[in-house]
Amino acid sequence: MEVINPGWTQKDIDEQIEKFRLKKYVVFDYLTMFQKIFKAQYNIEKELTINNIYPSISYEDINSRIKKGLPVLEANNIHFDEKLLTSLLKDISNILSDYPFSEDFFVNNLTESLIFHSLILYEMILNMLYNNQKYFKDLSERLGVKSSMILFFGKALSAPFLRCCAKTLIKHINLESMKINRCPVCGGIPMMARLLKGDGKRLLECSLCNSQWVFARLMCPFCLNEDQNTLSFIFIEEDSEHRLDTCDQCKMSIKTLDERKQEEKGLDTLIVEDIATIYLEILAVKKAYLSLKDPL
Ligand SMILES: [Zn+2]
Ligand SMILES: [Zn+2]
Repeated sequence: MEVINPGWTQKDIDEQIEKFRLKKYVVFDYLTMFQKIFKAQYNIEKELTINNIYPSISYEDINSRIKKGLPVLEANNIHFDEKLLTSLLKDISNILSDYPFSEDFFVNNLTESLIFHSLILYEMILNMLYNNQKYFKDLSERLGVKSSMILFFGKALSAPFLRCCAKTLIKHINLESMKINRCPVCGGIPMMARLLKGDGKRLLECSLCNSQWVFARLMCPFCLNEDQNTLSFIFIEEDSEHRLDTCDQCKMSIKTLDERKQEEKGLDTLIVEDIATIYLEILAVKKAYLSLKDPL
């Protein structure tokens, strides 16, 4: 079984966003805000090449890491250029400051704090990739900013680098029949799932590098629960293409694009579907399921 790189261009993203313009369940301004963020990320990604940001790794090394249950990328070895990170941070902050959606987006507060506390962005990203929860808790207290906001920036800034590595490495990964619930490329948690039209296979997409891989249909990707009495899904009448898969054992939920319910098949990158279906996350919180947007 292969790992898949959805590989999109800015034009694909723009066309996909346009399709959501008249959908009632979409907050279109929120989507266009992310359209600008995707563009800022893409502008960095298209200038990067893996040779400049990651040491060369053999096919054997890749698959021996996978067999040991390790992600292919060793986070320490990724060269995150601090200047590029800072410039992307400024771009994203400028975009966000035009859209005061919620208290989570008190962005100026964060950027000023980052400068004032001379935070090293590269360090923040490494702590995110190594899932150092204490770091996020401490930093959140020190800066007076929610840890979900810091995590948002960690993801947004690292994405161009991780996507660049993933695009190349993905071709060499052989997952066979392994059930992996973390991204085989970078170790990230899944952001969203996709049910394919033809064979109904379920793909998970990484929240960090956007690689996709096949996962069991009837299993919680967070706690690996298979008890069908505690696994369920919710959707609203106005939008049958998307649903929220829930697990009552770990209280996690994951949004799914059900391609079997789609009339026409487009590229449908999940980074756009994720933003367009923010209403499902609100529904998840209402039903007391945990949010993927908080540090786990
Ligand atoms: Zn990944
Ligand atoms: Zn679960």
